[in-house]
Amino acid sequence: MQLSPLFEPSSVAVLGASNRPSVGGDMVETLKRFGYKGAIYPVNPKYETLLDLPCYPSLRDLPAPPDVVAFCIGPSRIPENFRLLPEVGAKAAVIFGGGYAEEGDKGRQIQAEIVEICRDGGIALCGPNCMGIINPTFGSATYLQIAREPEAIGGNVGLISQSGSICISLLSDVQRFGFSLVASSGNEAVVNAADYLEFMVDHEATKVIAMFTETIADPERYVAALDRAADKGKPVIVLKVGKADRARQAITTHTGGLAGDTRVFSEVLRAHRAIEVDDLDELVETLAASQGRKHPNGRRLGVITSSGGMAELILDRAEKAGLELPPLPEADMAEAVSVIGAVSGDGNPLDAWGNGDFNKNTPHGLKVVRESGANDAVVLCYDNNDGAPLGYIESLMARAKFLRESAEQSDKPHYQMTMRPGLRIEEQIPLLAECGVPTLFGVRQGLQAIDRLSRWSAGLQPQRNSAQRVDPASLDGLKLSNRKTVNEFDSKRLIAQLGVRITKEKIAATREEIISAADTIGYPVVLKAVSDDIPHKSELGLVKVGLTDASAVGQAWDDLTERLKPLEARADILVQEMVSDGIEVFAGVAYHEGFGHALAFGMGGIEIEVTRDFALRMLPLRDGDAEAMIQEIRAAARLGPIRGQPAADTASLAAALYALSDLIESAGSAIREIDLNPIKILPEGQGCVVVDALILPAQ
Ligand code: ADP
Ligand code: MG
Repeated sequence: MQLSPLFEPSSVAVLGASNRPSVGGDMVETLKRFGYKGAIYPVNPKYETLLDLPCYPSLRDLPAPPDVVAFCIGPSRIPENFRLLPEVGAKAAVIFGGGYAEEGDKGRQIQAEIVEICRDGGIALCGPNCMGIINPTFGSATYLQIAREPEAIGGNVGLISQSGSICISLLSDVQRFGFSLVASSGNEAVVNAADYLEFMVDHEATKVIAMFTETIADPERYVAALDRAADKGKPVIVLKVGKADRARQAITTHTGGLAGDTRVFSEVLRAHRAIEVDDLDELVETLAASQGRKHPNGRRLGVITSSGGMAELILDRAEKAGLELPPLPEADMAEAVSVIGAVSGDGNPLDAWGNGDFNKNTPHGLKVVRESGANDAVVLCYDNNDGAPLGYIESLMARAKFLRESAEQSDKPHYQMTMRPGLRIEEQIPLLAECGVPTLFGVRQGLQAIDRLSRWSAGLQPQRNSAQRVDPASLDGLKLSNRKTVNEFDSKRLIAQLGVRITKEKIAATREEIISAADTIGYPVVLKAVSDDIPHKSELGLVKVGLTDASAVGQAWDDLTERLKPLEARADILVQEMVSDGIEVFAGVAYHEGFGHALAFGMGGIEIEVTRDFALRMLPLRDGDAEAMIQEIRAAARLGPIRGQPAADTASLAAALYALSDLIESAGSAIREIDLNPIKILPEGQGCVVVDALILPAQ
């Protein structure tokens, strides 16, 4: 479907145009104010002419086919007029009002009819239930609000918002950045966020894309478009709302139940190099920071303030947010002190007040920080405000000029930042913006925005391209498509093919055979019932651990056979080595519709259901992902050396995580979910052992 008739229409028909301040009247006026160069066709049987344009009684009476039709009429009159679109040759349409799929059966019916007309006629529909479209560079708008100052809107941000009010909110502040394209996508009955994203990735004037998202209609195309945006060097900044996880229905694997939609979506964004933000403040500051001349080459920020108190507050915030503010190296510190005088702390943030000679100290502080090898970006932070009752405005403007001069002499990105949002000296902002220095509001949001952009420009490690593959014949042999779950024994054989150690074990048919197998394995041993019908064994008393001799094994056999009788499950009895040492962790993979498989890792045991302390990544893993996941969980310290106990063998654990990624690479379409639960990690140098495994085949 072509979106150019929506964004770059050669003609616009305004259905329900009027000469009053109203949606229809404003739209014609707005098009004129944007300097729209195409044909405007007001449509309303009540007028002969409207705002000096001929007005047409119906869509049927237009002198030429309209590229786009804006429906400024009530929902009851929409269907009869919408049906005319194919006949009059319209290529696109915008429906603003609500009353469709979001409002009960009748609305759903109308929306369904509209969608069918669009599909048949190749009509790109924006909405319904939206604010519409603006293209400031092209000079067109089919948008609900009157253009008060159209020339102020232009910029390089492409905005795609499912919420109309968020469009209103973002477009109401264009001081630090402006918009190249705006799409208020509403119900997305036909054209969805992925379509708009695709268009904006290719749009020359759009350099950064902001998305306000409630749901993703077309995940596969969406992630493909994210990849393309990253390849083209356009950051996509996503604010996703509705993060309360939907309850999942049948939960068979631990992993499948753990990772809800929100966590998975965040990982999808990470894997496809989008920048996720948590609220509007963060979105806007990241957009403001994106206006810098260039993005930092690394994550280390050098901050300059004029107060020890501010410096400490900034440092506390930075620490909490995991931002890097490396101390100023000794030589740089000496250079700073030589002019500024006494400097508190470790020089980052650099409190450049010193002897109080502001006109000398500020430029010198900037020079030391920008020339230091210990940072990748320079941030000058202080507060003041228009209309403040105290202080010289001249000295504030001087500060902005010092920052500007510093930026002009340096390759490093420079930023001006306030301690908190709400304070600004209007006059400084364009002065700095002219030479690519963004002004950021608030320490938390500002530093985070710079950090996110520098992570974004650092890119991602390449995806794993491993030669490890499972043997296709053995995969076929498992006959996955006929099984609801694959029991521990069979699942482990598959895992073992990828070089991951599993417990020594044997299925035995008789009491005598199991005792002799136990003797061979060596005590202590574990007896378990294994069956495709019993994915969770211990809750039915079907796991007997710590069996130390033949008689205990015999008793366990008797007990298991007794317990199996009423279960009507086809089950085998398995004897396996008991792994007494080590720390229990779990790792697993679950498929998420449209987004692919995600790998989860966390500590074993039931606490995780409460703590939700697990790491997640989309597959295939990238180099370094497994190691990072192991470090990332809050309980990571448990795997290090504690209280005289040796550190756990995390290297072998990382290898097991990579093996799961490789398994999905070679067998992914056949496997929906896998649990390795638990894996026991032995002390460093001794590896790890998979103790239990469960596979859920794809249906
Ligand atoms: P379930 O199907 O209930 O998950 P498991 O095979 O995971 O059954 O066994 C339950 C628990 O018993 C494990 O979490 C682990 O603590 C312990 N366990 C099972 N097998 C072994 C083993 N071979 N060595 C040590 N502990 C084991
Ligand atoms: Mg288990």
